[in-house]
Order: sequence, then C-alpha cells, then structure tokens
Amino acid sequence: PEVAQLVASRLLDVPDFPKPGVVFKDLMPLFADGVAFREVIDGIIAYHGPDSFDTVAGIEARGFVLAAAVAYATGVGVVPVRKAGKLPRATHSASYALEYGEATLEVHQDAFTAGHRVLVLDDVLATGGTAEATLDLVERAGGTVSGFTVLLELGFLKGRERLAPRPVHALLTV
Ligand code: IMP
Repeated sequence: PEVAQLVASRLLDVPDFPKPGVVFKDLMPLFADGVAFREVIDGIIAYHGPDSFDTVAGIEARGFVLAAAVAYATGVGVVPVRKAGKLPRATHSASYALEYGEATLEVHQDAFTAGHRVLVLDDVLATGGTAEATLDLVERAGGTVSGFTVLLELGFLKGRERLAPRPVHALLTV
C-alpha cells in the first residue's frame, strides 16, 4: 500500500552502524518530512481505529516521537517506556538478552489505569527483544496491550515469531 512505499522511500541504509557488519535502518528522513510523518501517524491511527486504545506507549527513544503524535491526534495520554535508570519513581523493569550483554527497560508502576487499552509504538522491530519486554511491562503495570505497531519490521530477524501470538502491525516489512 501507499504508506509502505512512503516508508520505503524515506528510509536510509547505514552500513556498519552501530558496529561493523550491521546495516542500520535510519528512519530520520521520514520523521523529518512533515507530509510523510503525518501520513504515517494517520495511517497508524486508521489501522487500529481511533477508539481502540486509551493510552499510547512509546519505546525510547524514537517510539516517543510516534507515541506523542498519535496521542495528541487522538486526545489520549502518552507513556514512555524507558531505558534503565531514567524514570524517577517506582518502576517495573524487564531485562532481555542482547548479542553481547543485556538491556533493561522500565515503566512507572502507576503508568496505566487498570484495564486501559494501550497501543505500543516503536520505529523498528528487529529481534523482538525490546518489544517483548515492553509488552510484558505494560501488562505488569496494569495495562492491556491493544496493539503494537512499528514503521519497519526486519522480517529476517523473526521478531514477529518471538512475539506470537500477539499481533504485530508493521507499515513496511523488509
Ligand atoms: P530488537 O529488540 O532487536 O527488536 O531491536 C529493536 C529496537 O532496537 C528498537 O527500539 C529499535 O529502535 C532499535 N533498532 C534495532 N535495529 C534498528 C535499526 O536498524 N534501525 C533503527 N532502530 C533499530
């Protein structure tokens, strides 16, 4: 569809970032294009339906940009899911394995009203570790995950399989 082509056309491949052998998918050109950014935000809202969620959660850091825009457009609040040590009050935390070492994400324990439907957003789905930890955190904090959208899914890394049976909505899969 049109929005997939839009993402594809505003996407840059950056070889050897953040380390040799990795091709980083840079979506900053899409964020920087006002018309394209609005299309993408409107596309996310239309896919899920504007009444299908009560709160939007964004994963640090590019997910924040998407979450804030969707929340503003639909009149709901926005919750950040942050890297360890950034949130000031009591948190739930979830750790997951990286290729080397471990990463931890956190959310405030009182971030969600019990039973609120939470739409979770990030820019890229790779192995799915980040998303899996985030979806667990949302539910541990009392939210109900109503949807998960990324702009770009790296299909060969099988994040979708890792998250199954939870559905993944990707505007573009490569
Ligand atoms: P995963 O946990 O392996 O699925 O990695 C996804 C997380 O890492 C997301 O928060 C992304 O923002 C980030 N990420 C991984 N690969 C890329 C990439 O190629 N471009 C931009 N972000 C990436």
